[in-house]
Amino acid sequence: MPELPETTVISQDVYALAGGRSVLRAAVFRPDVTNVAPEEFGWRLTSRTLRGTGRLGKIITLDFGDVVGVVHLVISGRVLRLPAWREPDRMNTAVLEFDGDGEPLVLAFTRLWLGYFDLYEPDAVGDHPLIARLGPDPFSEEFTTGYLAQAFGRKANVKGLLLDQSVVAGLGNIYVDEVLFAAGVHPTRRADSLNPGEVEKVHAATRDILRRAIELRGTTFDSYHDAFGETGKYQHQLRVFARAGQPCLSCGTRIVKLKVAGRGTHVCPACQPL
Ligand SMILES: [Zn+2]
Repeated sequence: MPELPETTVISQDVYALAGGRSVLRAAVFRPDVTNVAPEEFGWRLTSRTLRGTGRLGKIITLDFGDVVGVVHLVISGRVLRLPAWREPDRMNTAVLEFDGDGEPLVLAFTRLWLGYFDLYEPDAVGDHPLIARLGPDPFSEEFTTGYLAQAFGRKANVKGLLLDQSVVAGLGNIYVDEVLFAAGVHPTRRADSLNPGEVEKVHAATRDILRRAIELRGTTFDSYHDAFGETGKYQHQLRVFARAGQPCLSCGTRIVKLKVAGRGTHVCPACQPL
């Protein structure tokens, strides 16, 4: 599922494609992909101009002025450019057509029954239940080593805390494994057992890995593609994720796969000692 880097790339791509254009028509396949009635989804977006796009955690925001689209793409969710308007269906769960010079621009948001495309008043976006509980963004000023040390002052395992969107917004299973490997911290460690140097390494690795992953346009592990239909390139940089049984790229020890916080977790037992 798209994590912070992939969400950033898709958000930027949607702006590159549709920024400054206005919506000719918009529709959803079924009522459960949005928080408004299907007819309302259409009329609230029609003739609005896309003024900007953003990201909050793993959520994409689409600024249409009087209304903001809050889009959560989860498992296999993508934004696709379609050659022409087509009514939404089970795969293309929300479809938006934009005006523009020359060819029409049609974007489909796929598999949204697993996620959503909600519409909010601009000043109410923070009331969205997932957005309301987001912790600091990893690139924000609030995300300091001091903040992280305080957030880690708990008995929970460090992986579980990093996956918790209220601790830090945007990390998911792939990047947490990579961050903990880079920091030399075993995912099952109790967060309150990390020394200040380890907290600093986790903090630095979080920013460093996410920044490089954005530069490489994300990780395509199963289905992620950007809005131009291209795969990311960060999967070639993964050091532990999905490498169970293969030698550690730093020390040659076999990477093992464990279950931590309910998720498949990849660890080098030598680089990340318990
Ligand atoms: Zn190793």
